[in-house]
Amino acid sequence: MNSKQNSSATESPLRFVIIGAGMGGILTAIKLKEAGFNNFVIVEKGDSVGGTWRENSYPGLHCDFPSHFYSYSFFHNPNWSRRFSPGAEIRDYLESAARHFGVHEAIQFNIKVTEGRWDGAAWTLELEGGRSLQCDVLLAATGYLHVPNFPDIDGLDDFEGPKFHTAQWDHSVALEDKRIGIIGTGSTSTQLVAELAGKVRNLTVFQRTPQWVVQQDNPAYSEAEKRAFAEDPSLLVKMYEEQKAEMVALADGAILGGNADARAYLVANVHENLARVKDPELRRKLTPDYEPGCKRIVISPRFYEAIQDPGCELVTEPIDRIEAGGVKTVDGTLHELDVLVIATGYDTQAFFRPLNLIGEDGRRTDEIWQKRPVAFRTMTIPHMPNFFMVEGPFSPIGNVCAFLTAELQVAHIIKLIEVVAEQHVAIAPREDKTAELLETYRDAARTTIWATGGCVSWYQDDEGVPTLYPFSNQTFEAEMTTDPDLTEYVLTPLSGRDMS
Ligand code: NAP
Repeated sequence: MNSKQNSSATESPLRFVIIGAGMGGILTAIKLKEAGFNNFVIVEKGDSVGGTWRENSYPGLHCDFPSHFYSYSFFHNPNWSRRFSPGAEIRDYLESAARHFGVHEAIQFNIKVTEGRWDGAAWTLELEGGRSLQCDVLLAATGYLHVPNFPDIDGLDDFEGPKFHTAQWDHSVALEDKRIGIIGTGSTSTQLVAELAGKVRNLTVFQRTPQWVVQQDNPAYSEAEKRAFAEDPSLLVKMYEEQKAEMVALADGAILGGNADARAYLVANVHENLARVKDPELRRKLTPDYEPGCKRIVISPRFYEAIQDPGCELVTEPIDRIEAGGVKTVDGTLHELDVLVIATGYDTQAFFRPLNLIGEDGRRTDEIWQKRPVAFRTMTIPHMPNFFMVEGPFSPIGNVCAFLTAELQVAHIIKLIEVVAEQHVAIAPREDKTAELLETYRDAARTTIWATGGCVSWYQDDEGVPTLYPFSNQTFEAEMTTDPDLTEYVLTPLSGRDMS
């Protein structure tokens, strides 16, 4: 399982498998390599780098985080085309990071891990197709937006025209002359509507719950600006820091409520934006009855403009069933369609599942996670030795930059891996400490706007408790940058193998 990295005899013989070649997996490989752990492979279920930015390719896909911040802090890109860049640019950026840092050659594509088993000293991974792979340390960088969620609506399979989830876009279907239906009104749907309105025969958007939408312009960077960025990298650092401050103010100040002025600005922005909808009846339909920030805030330069297009219809009557020719709402209307787009998001409680892990004493993640996802400090699971997650349960996600979260986590994980290497041990969090900390997170999460704001969202588990880091970005940064307290972990000596 030797990767083709620059290993030397003095470097650690620990063998690593990273699952996923998206933002988190590429980052993990770069940082392992930097720390002198060169013996790794990245297994990736898809055929290229990019994770959710590879899987999603729907029209209008872009990032609603400013691009200079939605990047690795150590790999700035002078060539972002816009403040909010298209998805394909982010996918290309990840590909170029993998090549620039020499980890691309360690990726094995089109491989799905179906099961992992800890044998007391190492992990054996079963791969689809019958192969297996062994490693000392297993890292899951699978993200939380990779298992499409299909709505439980009667007749979904009866629709006769093309029908696909936004994460599985069928580019062979021409849209221009078609009547297109979109189920869902989350961040994905709003981007799609903004792109398609006025360009197709008509667009019918089926809304179950309205969203609060922040208005943000999306200016392009001029060639002169890009040249300046390339010539003076300090400008890119400045952009990163400015955009970081802006987004942290949104997440901590406006959404978590730590800053009254930021909160007031957000509330005013979403109301002013909504007021741009001229027809009072359409505006009423688009007005949420919960507090801004309860669901993930949608950031869009032109959603309201698009939904007012004469070729666009917003349907708020609940869906009764799907039929061969379209979507029937409970008032008996059949909304006739040629193409049906499912924009109903992801199973955000899946994390690395459907993969199942069998840890020490035969303990299984499907049992440990039966009630809800369990994690210690977002990265480890009791009874799963030498297993680490990037963007695991209770990570700061939603309106927080995934790159920043992952960088902090991976730095912490590397410190734990150094303990594994130096002390020749397997490491897993203590069950009591995990339960204690999770209760602290969950108690705090119950008081956040994600629980108290009067909405139902994908942030919440089946008890309505948000599976999100409930404290500020600053607190998360402090938690991740503090050296691990090894009394919180079970360290099991590993004999017979030199890990130093
Ligand atoms: P989402 O936010 O989960 O939205 C799903 C939509 O489908 C909601 O409007 C939901 O309605 C609706 N829905 C679900 N089940 C339904 C059913 N049975 N019947 C009718 N409607 C149903 O999914 P998403 O828009 O794909 O976004 C997921 C996440 O991806 C985002 O929150 C964000 O983190 C990420 N994302 C990021 C970007 C970016 O630019 N950074 C872009 C796109 C997505 P309810 O509200 O009533 O549940």
